[in-house]
This record gives sequence, C-alpha cells and structure tokens, in this order.
Amino acid sequence: MKRVLTLLLCILLILCTAGCFAEEKTAKITSESISKEDAGLVLHFIDVGQGDCTLIESKGRFALIDAGERTESNKVVSYLSSAGVESLDFIISTHPHSDHCGGLADVIRNFDTAVLICPDVYTESYVWENVLDAADERGVAYETPNPYEFYQLGDSTVTVLSPKPDAVYSNLNDYSVVCMVEYGNTSALLTGDAEKTVERELVRGSYDLSADILKCGHHGSSTSTCSEFLHAVSPSAAIISCGENNDYGHPHRETIEILQSSHIPSWRTDIHGDIVATSDGNNFYISTSTDETRVTTPKNDNTPAYIGNKNSKVLHRATCESVTKMKDSNKVSFDTWDEAKKKGYTPCGACNP
Ligand SMILES: [Zn+2]
Ligand SMILES: [Zn+2]
Repeated sequence: MKRVLTLLLCILLILCTAGCFAEEKTAKITSESISKEDAGLVLHFIDVGQGDCTLIESKGRFALIDAGERTESNKVVSYLSSAGVESLDFIISTHPHSDHCGGLADVIRNFDTAVLICPDVYTESYVWENVLDAADERGVAYETPNPYEFYQLGDSTVTVLSPKPDAVYSNLNDYSVVCMVEYGNTSALLTGDAEKTVERELVRGSYDLSADILKCGHHGSSTSTCSEFLHAVSPSAAIISCGENNDYGHPHRETIEILQSSHIPSWRTDIHGDIVATSDGNNFYISTSTDETRVTTPKNDNTPAYIGNKNSKVLHRATCESVTKMKDSNKVSFDTWDEAKKKGYTPCGACNP
C-alpha cells in the first residue's frame, strides 16, 4: 500500500512539474548582458527618425528589414558597415512607403544582396522605383513573400506570416511583410506597418504568435497593436520605431496605454536611439545608444527633406539649387515624398526627389 502511495505521489509530482513548465514562459528579457560568443541572434532596431529599419544578425550572417527614408541612408549604410556587414543574405522591404523603403536603394548599391523580398503590390512612387532600379543594376533577385515560408539566417530563422499572395487590402500598410524571427527559445515578431485588419487575421490564423519581443506595428499608431493581437503575442518587451516630435503623433497614447496596462516595458527609437536586442537562445538582453551619443551627433536637425513651390506645385529635394532661388513665401516643406504627392506636387526634373 505504502509503495502504491509513493508511486502515486511521484506521478502527481511529475505531472505538476510538467504543468509548471508548460505554464512558464521559457524566454524573457534579462538585465544580464550576453557575451559575444553566446549571442546567436542580434536584432538592431536602427534609429532612422520617423521610419523603420531593422538589421538581423546571426552567426556572421546579416539580413535587413527596411531602411527608413532616403535621407537616412547615410546613417543606415554606415551603421551596417560598423556592424561588420559586407553582404546581405536578404532584404525584406515590408511595403513601398518611403519611410520604410527610401534608404534601400543606397543599401543595395553599397552591399551585395542576394534576394529582395517585397509584397506583390503596385504603387506609383519615385522612391520605390529608385529601389527597383538599384536592385536591377546590382542583379538582385526578387521574391514575393509566402506565409509560413522561412529564410535561414545563420542559426536563426525568419518566417513570413503575412501577406498572403492573393490578399487584397485597401490600405498599403496592410500589405506589410510580417515576420517572426526565431533563435533557440527566443523570438521576435516584426509587423512593419500592418494594422488591425492584418493583426486580427493573424490571430485567427494557425501560427503561434507568442513572441518575446513585439515591434509594434505602424510606429506605435493606434491603428495597430489591438488588444487581441497583443494578448496573442504576449511579449515581454515592445519596440517602437518613430521620430522625435513626428507629425503623426506616433506613438499614439492608446498604444502606450495598452502596453502599460499589460505591464509590457517598451523601448522607443525617438527616446533611446538605436536599440539592440541580443539573444543567447533563452533570453534577450536589450541595450540602447546612450544619450551622450545623441547629443554629440544630433541626427534630427529639423531640416525638411523636400521643399515644394506653392505656385508651380513642383517638389525639390531641400538641397536642390532651385530651392535657393525660390521666394521664401512660395516655399512649403515636406518630410516625405508621399506626403507632397498627396497634396498634388510633381517632382523636379533636375533633382528628382
Ligand atoms: Zn511607416
Ligand atoms: Zn506605411
């Protein structure tokens, strides 16, 4: 009888322990820094002001997701060089908005790139055409993303979750390539500018969305990071990529509030500069560029990227010679080409912004 009881107790103990492990989240954010040898995955959320740019590094292999506006390309190219990038296994251009794809042309011209992964969606954009020209010049292969297809990068995998090849959305942001980056027991979910429509589709889908890090969609806009999605991902940390005092008010109060009420700590490029998340396969360690660095190299000098002429409705780069000849009263400034195009501006033939 005693033996049977002992056996029953043992079985109960094993079941309880197994239950505890199933409940416990295996990976989390640690305050202990991770040595270079143990770093199997490094995610660099590069501060490109109001835009998006993530460098993924695993065991000496590199891939890039987006590269901010065209005006940020010098920063991106020099960041990549100092991170030791010589070539890129692939680039994901989440969607052809200039705050994501603008810097890609210069990246492609500076680093050998095997594949450019971009959604199959047409948009009339000089910035995007410039990226396609650069890819053609350098003989870069194109691929359209397919859900559940994954790309191996060093010891990590990057799995595409959205969009489906036949997807039709009214909003270009929803075509954003959404991907899960995984290494060991750790993962990060990167959603580009995908909004709630896509987030809800993903929640209804079959892929396990739980991730240690969530890069909040659309720069922390309230049009993304809905509660059911956040609940499904249940991240230990959130990253928001946005510019200081940006015109859109990103991140929106609703996003900050939902993260706070869910006790999810967040890191923001507008506050923390470049954010680096390093994984040893069990934990992520997050570090940021220091405030001193930001003071000594002010990136955001408030110079607009483009100047339009109110009368002629022609748009120039801020550095174009025509701008110096323009009357101040005729000048109107824009941060993005898309913004100017929406207001009916056409590009200057000489500087072709
Ligand atoms: Zn964006
Ligand atoms: Zn966008």
